[in-house]
Amino acid sequence: MWSSNMNILHLQSSSSSSSFHPKSFRSGTQDTQTRLLRIQNKACSFILGDLRNFRSQLSTSTLSGLRSPRVRRRKPLPQNVDLPTQWPKNKKKPYPIPFKKIKEAGRADKKLAEKGIEKPLEPPKNGLLVPSLVPVAYKVLNAWKLLIKGVAKLLHVVPVYACSDCPEVHVGQAGNQIQDCNGTGNVLRRSFHTWMKGSVSDILVPIESYHMYDPFGRRIKHETRFNYDRIPALVELCIQAGVEIPEYPSRRRSKPVRMIGRKMIDLGGFVDEPKICRSGDALAELDTYRCYSEGITPPASASDVRQVAEDTLEAYEDVRSGVATLMKKYTVKSCGYCPEVHVGPCGHNVKLCGAFKHQWRDGKHGWQDATVDEVFPPNYVWHVKEVGGSPLRGSLRRFYGKAPAVVELCVQAGAKIPAKYKPMMRRDIVIPDGEEASLVA
Ligand SMILES: [Zn+2]
Ligand SMILES: [Zn+2]
Repeated sequence: MWSSNMNILHLQSSSSSSSFHPKSFRSGTQDTQTRLLRIQNKACSFILGDLRNFRSQLSTSTLSGLRSPRVRRRKPLPQNVDLPTQWPKNKKKPYPIPFKKIKEAGRADKKLAEKGIEKPLEPPKNGLLVPSLVPVAYKVLNAWKLLIKGVAKLLHVVPVYACSDCPEVHVGQAGNQIQDCNGTGNVLRRSFHTWMKGSVSDILVPIESYHMYDPFGRRIKHETRFNYDRIPALVELCIQAGVEIPEYPSRRRSKPVRMIGRKMIDLGGFVDEPKICRSGDALAELDTYRCYSEGITPPASASDVRQVAEDTLEAYEDVRSGVATLMKKYTVKSCGYCPEVHVGPCGHNVKLCGAFKHQWRDGKHGWQDATVDEVFPPNYVWHVKEVGGSPLRGSLRRFYGKAPAVVELCVQAGAKIPAKYKPMMRRDIVIPDGEEASLVA
């Protein structure tokens, strides 16, 4: 009995000393905790290291393959842009090239002239054609023909109104009711426009210039102005850039023109224009004045209308980009005060400028370099968001957008809106309707 008790005691002591001591138990849990923490840390460091390795591998191999140096990031188009404003009549237009640069170029020319050194001239500034621009000129002229025809066809489908007292044009079912007419008698009409049926010339604003057989030859004087024909400036630019129209010939030089400073020293002598009997048909397809929509058959079906609209819009873009390309090389001058345009190295001396301070200039135009918008005006009109809706109102004009007349005409006929015109057309602005409109007004 005693021995058995002793055994039990021994057992208790042994068990208590070795494993069942509360201290040893606590120390055992700490060990496992630290071990677990270590394992966790190791795992984390392994995962982090793996991620770093993966990222470095991505940056070196995979991404370098994806990002080619040729990829260009397109600038996102702004959501809305300001509407075009009219330049005030009592101010000269700004110079397209900064006046400082014009002065610097003039000084450099003068220095060369003083030393008796010829001015280095490259085609077309030396009277020779630029061969690479001849096909561009033909493309512009063909697109211009298509554009005039397309606009004439679409006039049967989309109504166009022009104000009889001011240059305002409206494309849409009903003329707008925006009171901004500044034509004669506008006070009596409370500045409402007097709408009448529009023509091709109301969509494509005609800009004319004198046709010159030799743009480097004799300058046109006021007295000799009737010896020269007036043709669309765009057509004259194409002729000078290499297009052959038999009725309107142009002098093609084989020897370049030479200049010292502003003085011509060799232009191959003066050559008179060959006398050609001009019939009215030569410009029948190229002049907006001679194109009447009545003489052109309208598109037969709805799908035809959409096709004509798409083609016309494409032709418009072709003409615009082509004219811009030609004008980078060929000189076109415009008057800083009025819409007169002259294609050639220097303006003419016809005294017909009636714009701001014309008395100071003896009626002569103030020539400066022309911009594309002056040779091929965009002619902005209000954009009609809801075709067939209520007419546009003056009180809501700040919600409306604008677009070039051709673009608006084609869009209303079913063409897709080109992305570059969207910011000015303000398609995303909700126009107030009903009660809201009266509150806004
Ligand atoms: Zn008007
Ligand atoms: Zn002028």
